[in-house]
Amino acid sequence: MSGRKSETRLAQRLKRRIATDGPISVADFMSACLSDPQDGYYMTAEPFGAGGDFVTAPEVSQLFGEMIGGWLVHVWHMAGRPARFHLVELGPGRGTLMADALRVAKLDSAFLGAARLTLVETSPRLREKQAETLANSPLKPEFAANPGEIPDDAPLFLVANEFFDALPIHQHVLTEGGWRERMIGLDDAGELCFGIGPASLSEDDLPPTARKAAPGAVLETQPLANAIAASIGTRIAMRGGAALVIDYGYARSTPGDTLQALYRHEFDPVLARPGDADLTAHVNFEALGHAFRTTGAKISGPMTQGEFLIGLGLLERAGQLGSGKPAEVQERIRADVERLAGPDAMGTLFKVLGVTKADLAPPPFDT
Ligand code: SAH
Repeated sequence: MSGRKSETRLAQRLKRRIATDGPISVADFMSACLSDPQDGYYMTAEPFGAGGDFVTAPEVSQLFGEMIGGWLVHVWHMAGRPARFHLVELGPGRGTLMADALRVAKLDSAFLGAARLTLVETSPRLREKQAETLANSPLKPEFAANPGEIPDDAPLFLVANEFFDALPIHQHVLTEGGWRERMIGLDDAGELCFGIGPASLSEDDLPPTARKAAPGAVLETQPLANAIAASIGTRIAMRGGAALVIDYGYARSTPGDTLQALYRHEFDPVLARPGDADLTAHVNFEALGHAFRTTGAKISGPMTQGEFLIGLGLLERAGQLGSGKPAEVQERIRADVERLAGPDAMGTLFKVLGVTKADLAPPPFDT
């Protein structure tokens, strides 16, 4: 690949950094690719929609955000309708999910009157986009760079769709000498390449499924995701409230390399286009659930996105939306439902985890 004309500016900067300071971890690479203030993907690119790199559930159909809005209002009622609470979204993208959720929430003026809306977003460009999308919404958003900035003075009702998959993970490779951190260094031609770093995990750190792994196996850990989960769980356990985490991922900790780059709706080699391609890893829901639970919060699920949406009444709402509309509109709604909830689309790969204070049994997990 040397001499490739289209090398990104971030690739050049990372190569200089590695040449000077040595190899970097996969987590540092991911963090630079996604969040570097000058050249990070979310700072510069337009990721969403047909002209971008991927399509998320709220961008498929308004039905998605509406179902979540209904869930939030319902759970707020179950929690005794606290008179003040923080409504929070992590990583709101274009702001579409929250705009659709608030259109439903508007039907309950007491909910809106009690809510203070905070969007947790690092990208200044996306903050602007979110403010624009929500310009006609009943709540004006405030912004925070991380969930720790939200005042800890009231219950928290939070949603995160495709947020946790964008957080940096570490990868560990099983060698003859034990588990070692997977690194990114430079090959003989001076190009970015994967390599092996220092010893990283001991037997005690391993999930049972990794104890019999063969040399070459990759195991991922997500300390930042788990730390954010623990901070949210602590607030919910102490102050009350609820959270919904929706993402693609796996329900049981198990070895596997899930780091992936997406560019213009196609998978791309992970090291090919730093800063220009989206980079994600599947979420380990077992580890995330554990991080929530250790704080005293209760977790429900994970269940598949399909089960979750259908359990909340997706089909009924879709029927209502299509009622009296021309056949092509009804057909489009049917296709959207299939995409959101169908097993071959987002319905099975995507999982939903509910988090509440111990005394709540939120739908549709309760049935
Ligand atoms: N939830 C949206 C967007 C998902 S993309 C949707 O479903 O369409 C991931 C979002 O998380 C983007 O808004 C991105 O800028 C934001 N993000 C990524 N890493 C972040 C971090 N460490 N802190 C805050 N926001 C982050």
